[in-house]
Amino acid sequence: MIDLNSSSAVALSGRINWHIDTAIDADAARQPRRNYLGASVIADPCERAVQYYALGAEQDRPALGTKQDIFARGHWIEEQMIKRMRGAGFILLDRDPRTGEQFEAEWFDGKVKGHPDGMLLHWMGREECPIPLPALWECKGLGSKWWKKVVKEGLRACFPRYYGQMQLLMGGFKLNRGLFTAVNADTMERYHQVIEFSPSACEALLARAGRIFLANDAGELLPRPYFNSAGMECSMCNYKATCWPKQ
Ligand code: SF4
Repeated sequence: MIDLNSSSAVALSGRINWHIDTAIDADAARQPRRNYLGASVIADPCERAVQYYALGAEQDRPALGTKQDIFARGHWIEEQMIKRMRGAGFILLDRDPRTGEQFEAEWFDGKVKGHPDGMLLHWMGREECPIPLPALWECKGLGSKWWKKVVKEGLRACFPRYYGQMQLLMGGFKLNRGLFTAVNADTMERYHQVIEFSPSACEALLARAGRIFLANDAGELLPRPYFNSAGMECSMCNYKATCWPKQ
């Protein structure tokens, strides 16, 4: 007879989830590792963290198990929003018609690459287009807490990494503006913000990447911007164990 009391159900969940996570992790381990620095990483508030990414350093908490499903949820939200944006009247390309693959921009002989979610080219909807076109399009699915924060504070203050990613991509594709769309993954509410291209922000990020590659070639570790590891940035960082080794 099946025991339906909650403690055995919790134990059963743990056992089934162990099998699910093991299968997810095996699948993730078969995926090829990126051999370039993603445009979304370069504007990380910590330059040393970007350097660890560029070096391919081992992460404290690799994206395994349920994290992979959070990524999959993000992809699903993006696909759903592509349909919704097209339904509204945008001519939105999510693939480069020349290659049939994602749009791609690259810098430093391919050591840095970026892939925008799409290009908003024309408007076929009712009345006037709500934004000037063409525009780069980036879409993120966010948990409620972060979605509310970005609505309140805007992209640049809330997610400097995504803001920097859009600056690099607008520079790479020679576009003067982009549209950032954030979807609340709990309620599916949508927030849209126009991001104007800032040549100086784009140049500063490319200069930062150049500095990091030079330091890597010289075998130098860039200084930490924080005095101790107790702050939020270091606590949330995937390289804390490497950066602050136990004495
Ligand atoms: S642990 Fe802190 S100082 Fe070190 S890389 Fe991460 S954020 Fe930067």
